Amino acid sequence: MAPPGQDPFAYALSSNSAWAGYKGHQNPEFFSRLASGQSPDILWLGCSDSRCPETTILGLQPGDVFVHRNIANIVSPTDINTAAVVEYAVAHLKVKHVVLCGHSGCGGALASLSDARVGGVLDTWLAPLKALRAAHAEELDSFALAGLDEYVNEDDDCNDAECNERRALRLAELNVQAGVAVLMANPVVCDAIEQRGLQVHGTFFDIGSGRIRDLGFGTTITGKGATNGAKAAEGVGGGGGGGSGRGVVRGHHAQLVFRGDGPVGMQAF
Ligand SMILES: [Zn+2]
Repeated sequence: MAPPGQDPFAYALSSNSAWAGYKGHQNPEFFSRLASGQSPDILWLGCSDSRCPETTILGLQPGDVFVHRNIANIVSPTDINTAAVVEYAVAHLKVKHVVLCGHSGCGGALASLSDARVGGVLDTWLAPLKALRAAHAEELDSFALAGLDEYVNEDDDCNDAECNERRALRLAELNVQAGVAVLMANPVVCDAIEQRGLQVHGTFFDIGSGRIRDLGFGTTITGKGATNGAKAAEGVGGGGGGGSGRGVVRGHHAQLVFRGDGPVGMQAF
């Protein structure tokens, strides 16, 4: 954030200059290699929220992650923008992992909890989330949320803001589950799963801790490559798929490790 009194854009440009100088000093070949082309291993589908910059929170580097972000990380089968990014990443760049990530404190999820209008095109954009809310109204209105123990206190005397926060968390998870189901039905994704073991992950970023957890939706791994028995999980909060499949994505300062038998892990090196 720009210091008080300094123009944010001018500050951002000076910050970029300092960053480019630092990266070039740290690794003189960094930018020439970057300019030679991209071969990312991960496609990231996330929210536009400023607190969820995928490459930063993954501890990776430019060139590591192909990205599409929109408000509330909504994946609709008729959204040509998302579909084009998925197709290019999967069919042309041949990424190994597709990661759909929701997050805590999502304004889109919070806004979708009521029928109050946000205004403009935003109500149209949030329509799938509102439909999801309607489909899960009974669960969202109760606080017996299976698999969400970490969010739910024993007492139910929360104030409206707390209740809505919990509902928004749950709706955001349901949105990831629904988005993974859409991805798993995408023909390009289906072919890549069958033919080369593409993995699809439904994940959730907790802004308060900086941690990403695997919700257990998506592909399952058995031995060599993924099977198309992969599916959106029936519950939430479950572990990752079983088996021994594992892929490692190397960044400059860290490794993001996807394990078939546990949550996403980060190893510094
Ligand atoms: Zn969001």
